[in-house]
Amino acid sequence: MSDTLSMFNPACLDGPMVVNFGGGVDSTAILVGLARLYRMGDDTAKPDLILFADTGDELPETYENVRRVSEWCEATFGIPVTIASRPNNIPGRVGYKSLSENCITNETLPSEAFGRGACSLKWKHEPMDAFLHGRKRPLREGWLQAQGYEPGIKPLRLIGYDATETQKGKRKKNSEIGEDSTNFYRYPLVEWGWSREECERAIAVEGLPKVIKSACFMCPNQTEGELLTMANDNPKLFLRALAIEEIAKSGKHGLRFEGLWRRTRKSDGRPGSWFAWASQTVLDSGISVLATAELLAGYRLDELLHILKPELFAAPTK
Ligand code: SF4
Repeated sequence: MSDTLSMFNPACLDGPMVVNFGGGVDSTAILVGLARLYRMGDDTAKPDLILFADTGDELPETYENVRRVSEWCEATFGIPVTIASRPNNIPGRVGYKSLSENCITNETLPSEAFGRGACSLKWKHEPMDAFLHGRKRPLREGWLQAQGYEPGIKPLRLIGYDATETQKGKRKKNSEIGEDSTNFYRYPLVEWGWSREECERAIAVEGLPKVIKSACFMCPNQTEGELLTMANDNPKLFLRALAIEEIAKSGKHGLRFEGLWRRTRKSDGRPGSWFAWASQTVLDSGISVLATAELLAGYRLDELLHILKPELFAAPTK
């Protein structure tokens, strides 16, 4: 990012500027970068809307970051973060409060575990699009219409890919303005050349606390390190993630692979199942990750499984 003033959003686009705020490092860094430009006098860097899509399953630390950033946005730009979520009152469709509830009820895993990104589309992209552009069932006016924008106007969506995470080809593509039938897209971190480390530094310089990666607690993309942290800091969510996996294995559809990590990793033998990994991985304390989480949560996984799905899991013996 240049220190000299240049317009972030020269008047080439008529629509509003909307930040897709995921609650993690990258999108928080976009807001920090925009704030720097705005304070330097560039009014075009002020977002018109900051949108967070809530799956209902983020870690508490992410919800805390959303709350904190929302306060900071209000003080900085005069607008808080707006939360969009999937409606659970569509006639003729079963409503779920969260993606994890959807998984437990239907005895399945997030579709990311099957190699498809439909969970992200359904629980993140669709709610944000519906909030902006409106929806037919149930009929709801979109934010654009409510704000008086002309029909067909395309908002400029700012997306948080940092300059290191994209492959070379994608990075080149993401340094340009993209467009589809309803939105324009920009990737400010790629334009500014901000790597993940630079994003973290910018957030710290702004005086905002450290931000963790945002993702559903049972996201198949969680790493071993992230699971260890979750088992220790959020043991009830950790056990709920294992329960989702066990229910999917024993449920009506069954699983053709091991679990949330799909298959055993050839390089180091890491199991494809979070339950197997948590049972086998022993901590310095001499007890497994699973037993540690159960101790911290104050109940056992088999007790939780019986509560969630008594038809699948027998009452645990004391
Ligand atoms: S964070 Fe993971 S589980 Fe949640 S919606 Fe995205 S891909 Fe799916």
